[in-house]
Amino acid sequence: MPPAPPSYCQACKKKADPNENFPKCNKCSSATYCSKECQRAHWDIHKPICTPRSQGKFWGIRIMSNRGAPEGQSPADYFRHEAVPATHGIFREGESCPVTRHIGIPLIIYRDTDRRTPGANEIAVKLRINATDGFAPTSWQLGPGECIVVREDRKPLTMQLLEAIYRFNRHLMSYPIVDEGWASWHGLLNPSVWQYYAMQYYEKQSAQKRPGFNYFFPPVDS
Ligand SMILES: [Zn+2]
Ligand SMILES: [Zn+2]
Repeated sequence: MPPAPPSYCQACKKKADPNENFPKCNKCSSATYCSKECQRAHWDIHKPICTPRSQGKFWGIRIMSNRGAPEGQSPADYFRHEAVPATHGIFREGESCPVTRHIGIPLIIYRDTDRRTPGANEIAVKLRINATDGFAPTSWQLGPGECIVVREDRKPLTMQLLEAIYRFNRHLMSYPIVDEGWASWHGLLNPSVWQYYAMQYYEKQSAQKRPGFNYFFPPVDS
C-alpha cells in the first residue's frame, strides 16, 4: 500500500511532521487542523460540508436555474448546499456526469422534476456533457431546470470544487473538437490534467481573495 498522504491543516496549509497527525473535525473526521484557532477560522467554509449528524443523509449541491454564470458572476451564486436523504430519487434515477468519471471525481446529477422548475441550467448541461463529443443529451439541452449533484462516492462536495469542475468542462469546449486533423480532447480527460487545471484555478481565485479557495483542496482525493 502506498504511504498515507501527509496530514495538513486545511486552514493554513501547514503540513504535519511525518508520524504526526493533526486532529480531525469531531463531527465529520474529514477535515484536519493544526490548531483550534485554525479550526475556528475555517468553520464558515467547512460548515456546509461537515457531514450532517443525522444518519442516511449526504451533502449535495442544488444548482438553481442559470445561463452559465456570465462575466462578473460566480457559478457559486447559483449553488445551494442541500442535505440529500439516501431515499432521494438522485440515487435511483440520477445520471452520471461522464467527464467527471474520467477525472476521478465521479458526480451524479439529477433533474429535480418534483419542483417543476423548467428553465435554462447551463451549468448543469455542461456538467452532463458526454466524454466523447462534448454534447449533452438532447433532453438536457432543452433546459433541465433546477438540478441536484452529489459525489458518487458520497464524499462531501464543496461549491468551490463543483465550480472548478464546471469551469474545467467549459474549458474543454475551447478545444477544437470537430475540425479535421485535430486530436480529440478525450485524451485530456484524466486525473493528472484535471488536477493541474484545478490547482491553477484555485490559485487564481485565491489571488482574487475569493473565500474557500484560500487553501489547497486535493482535487481528486478529498
Ligand atoms: Zn493551521
Ligand atoms: Zn467537520
